[in-house]
Amino acid sequence: MDDAIVIGSGPNGLVAAATLARAGWRVRVLEAQDRPGGAVYSLETTLPGFIHDVGAAFFPFAHVSPALLSLDLGEVGLQWRGGIYESAHPAPDGTCASIARDVERAARSFGIDGDAWRALHDWQARMGPRLAETLLAPLPSVRPPLRLGLTNLLGLAMAGLSTSAGYARRRFQTEAARRVIPGLALHVDLGPEDFSGAALGLVLALLAAGGGFQVPVGGARSITHALLRRLENDGGTLQLNTHVREIVVRQRRAVAVRTDQGDEIPARSAILADVGAPALFWRMLAQDDVPGYLREAMHQFRYGWGTFKMDWALGGPVPWMHEEPRQAAVVHAGDSVDDLIRFTKEARAGEIPSHPYLVIGQQSLLDPTRAPEGKHTLWAYSRVPSYPEGGWQQHRERFADVIEERIEGLAPGFRKLIQGRAIFSPADLEAMNENLVGGDLGGGSAQFSHQLFWRPAFPYFRHRTPVKGLYLASASCHPGAGVHGACGFNAANQALRDAV
Ligand SMILES: Cc1cc2nc3c(=O)[nH]c(=O)nc-3n(C[C@H](O)[C@H](O)[C@H](O)COP(=O)(O)OP(=O)(O)OC[C@H]3O[C@@H](n4cnc5c(N)ncnc54)[C@H](O)[C@@H]3O)c2cc1C
Repeated sequence: MDDAIVIGSGPNGLVAAATLARAGWRVRVLEAQDRPGGAVYSLETTLPGFIHDVGAAFFPFAHVSPALLSLDLGEVGLQWRGGIYESAHPAPDGTCASIARDVERAARSFGIDGDAWRALHDWQARMGPRLAETLLAPLPSVRPPLRLGLTNLLGLAMAGLSTSAGYARRRFQTEAARRVIPGLALHVDLGPEDFSGAALGLVLALLAAGGGFQVPVGGARSITHALLRRLENDGGTLQLNTHVREIVVRQRRAVAVRTDQGDEIPARSAILADVGAPALFWRMLAQDDVPGYLREAMHQFRYGWGTFKMDWALGGPVPWMHEEPRQAAVVHAGDSVDDLIRFTKEARAGEIPSHPYLVIGQQSLLDPTRAPEGKHTLWAYSRVPSYPEGGWQQHRERFADVIEERIEGLAPGFRKLIQGRAIFSPADLEAMNENLVGGDLGGGSAQFSHQLFWRPAFPYFRHRTPVKGLYLASASCHPGAGVHGACGFNAANQALRDAV
């Protein structure tokens, strides 16, 4: 019998499994799909030879996440590549502010806001890895915040109380610099005027300035393959095409899982679920095993907005008007803070965005293995309503054209380079991975009310559930979205402590 079953092979599931296996447990991972990795994988979605990341593509936690560092993925072959600029924020008026790991380069790009940027960069350098250690530690955490220090904590808390628009307006003078942090906060469902939105935008800016928005050689799937190698080296196994339907509970303890085929697979010590919190507490457990207030909290669980994602196979690099995006890992389309506010209002009102904010990834600029020689890949997503009127099937092609028009406006000649494109509406993303409910890439909203002690619901922020031996290990729990593996790592360590 296995000591632990891990349901789901996303990065959190695989990190949890590898952590348990390294501690000497016999571990089996059960994955519903015919491939591992969840939102961290790569496929030739457009044309042969063009490798596109199906979900996550840039990895600011690569070199700072204690979970990933503990598994030493470099030793099992994972290699990283960085860009000259990490994040470029161009507008059609020709202005652009860009974050680079080289502080002088970034300060030049920020123009008269160069000193303000330098101050942020220096702050991140002083904090170093202690920033990620604090953000990714299980709650309540004592030592990492103590090590980070009171001044740094206060600085982050002040950002945590600010809207991203307010924070940016106080810190920077130019519109080009002001759109950077609100643009980063919109990676999740945090609009420029949302309470606490500055925290995430600022953290992403600091991580970009520190380790950068790195990409793995060979595609995001290389991370998944490295995690699998770690797991298998320690005797763990992965079973694909195995969808877990329910958790078998006896005497208030999770003892096995039951698959769609009706097989019961037992676990001696623990079951870790890399699944959405509502799926676990509503669907996979019998209602008698879930206290009423937790069921109620799951009723109120809010997912983030949907994600509309595209891949392109290109005949050459994107001909950005501005020089800096031509050398940037990630480019953000959002002309001004007001433009981002307008976009947020539309997405929140359930409307298809008329002028979509975009996160655009240029992986092949950093890693030439992604495309045939001389050619390039492009990846982009916008945030959208999950369920627009009429459904996505009706809107997807037209909205894809709108996204291309937007890129064309920043890079005239872009459309002529397109040799193939692939479109993933929120419904397509959810069909690929049931954790991406309504196309939410975060496993739940990133609004303040869904973070920290309230993720997924108080008092279950420490991965334990009302059922002994059952742990929530997905991005639905603290610290939430992103490829840091911390949800899985912290859940696995909790299971190891409980088993002593
Ligand atoms: C389009 C997109 C872009 C993103 N960009 C970035 C980025 O650039 N950088 C970044 O850091 N993050 C990014 N993210 C977010 C990041 O990918 C997620 O936060 C992360 O993958 C969450 O990991 P996870 O292990 O919790 O879940 P997932 O990666 O969602 O994996 C869950 C796995 O569990 C399986 N599963 C679920 N239920 C069951 C069941 N009942 N039985 C068996 N298997 C099951 C699923 O099939 C899936 O394989 C992006 C996400 C998306 C979708």
